[in-house]
Amino acid sequence: MRQIDKIIIHCSATPTDMDITASDIRDWHIDRGWSDIGYHYVIRRDGTLEDGRPIEQAGAHTKGRNTNSIGICLIGGADSFDYTLDQMDVLVDLVETLEETYPNATVHGHNEFSGKACPQFDVQAFFTED
Ligand SMILES: [Zn+2]
Repeated sequence: MRQIDKIIIHCSATPTDMDITASDIRDWHIDRGWSDIGYHYVIRRDGTLEDGRPIEQAGAHTKGRNTNSIGICLIGGADSFDYTLDQMDVLVDLVETLEETYPNATVHGHNEFSGKACPQFDVQAFFTED
């Protein structure tokens, strides 16, 4: 079993009118020469949760942090926090479920580990609000 200590949230950085799927992202990442989609979960604009890379395998989403983390990708976030309520509801549920499975895991945004804006919000502040 892979040791999980972080749940890291990302965005696809695509415009809100693009209905990107896990399969689209898998194609992009394989084109980049990766073995599979870099994320473990994808949350589409309509709130559909799709599986990406199997959890047992390390992802390819956050430089230097992939070994012990799970990567979640919200579709959208090209320039700002523009996710749908459905997406955010599904994200909160997914994070709660993962926290039950991995009680030692902490929740982060990609922007805590890189100079990128991804996922366009302060994940720590969002998840400690309530
Ligand atoms: Zn990211």
